[in-house]
Amino acid sequence: MGTVVIIKLRIAEEQLPHAQHALEQAASEMKNLVGIVSSWEPDSDTTALNKAAGMHPVSVRPQLMRILQKANNISILSDGAFDITFSAVGELWKIRPVLPIIPTEEQIAAALPLVDYRKLVLDADAGTAFLPQAGMQIDLGAIAKGSVADAAAASLLKNGFDDFMINAGGDVRTACPVDAEPWTLGITNPRDPRGDVLGELTVRSGAVVTSGDYEKSVVLEGKRYHHIIDPRIGKPTQGCISVTVIGPNAETADALATAFFVLGPEKGKALCETLPDVEAMFIHSDFQTVLSSGFSSYLKEKSDTHK
Ligand code: AMP
Ligand code: MG
Repeated sequence: MGTVVIIKLRIAEEQLPHAQHALEQAASEMKNLVGIVSSWEPDSDTTALNKAAGMHPVSVRPQLMRILQKANNISILSDGAFDITFSAVGELWKIRPVLPIIPTEEQIAAALPLVDYRKLVLDADAGTAFLPQAGMQIDLGAIAKGSVADAAAASLLKNGFDDFMINAGGDVRTACPVDAEPWTLGITNPRDPRGDVLGELTVRSGAVVTSGDYEKSVVLEGKRYHHIIDPRIGKPTQGCISVTVIGPNAETADALATAFFVLGPEKGKALCETLPDVEAMFIHSDFQTVLSSGFSSYLKEKSDTHK
């Protein structure tokens, strides 16, 4: 998926040989999942599903079925702000430094009817998925990095390792025994991603994921175009420039970060407050920051008492 995954394990020295084996196994489970779900992989189930759009249902392996169901849930929760079928209109935008392409209003209007998560047909009993209209397509870029980080976490836990931090291209999943130091992570400054962090979070077992407009963006005639699309209008969203979500697992936090980003600080925060175990920090384009009610308990200065 064009991403580097970094895994940090805290272990006793005598665990080293076993840890190496466990890391190799985690890597192979991640690769296996990517091979099933990534639309960049020519032989993935996702690619097969996209190719069969408007023609016939395709068999998808349980790993993909589960992610599609999860994506569907997040779409329902966010009233369509999160929508993996955004891709029919998303692919018109070529957000890149060299030869970027901005689609015309006509092109966007023609693709928008193909964007609707409610049209994706999932038959869990038969193990099939179907995109009923030609031209429909899905893209799991907003959720799958989280799924991959969680797959690595599950693999490490299965091998008896419970003190680790997995960073899958900015999607962070942690585990930490009660008697160990919590993990510390920086919050990226969206307007200076390589510069000093805005603050630090401490987490024990959970996930921290940030969606930012700086990840993939291009500025043309003073206007920034980025990779997170409002599925209702088929254009990059405006308002938020960064959303950081703390959640129980990386998949949920990843999908919610994108959903909150599209919803914006007001609606995003309202949704966040309804979800147990989820906190979020929104940064608006004017740099105003909005925190959900429990977020600050994870900020480092205040978190010494956090359990
Ligand atoms: P993230 O960095 O997790 O916010 O994911 C950004 C990626 O999600 C983009 O590069 C697209 O592949 C995909 N995406 C963009 N807009 C949406 C949306 N509204 N719903 C679901 N996925 C999206
Ligand atoms: Mg996401």
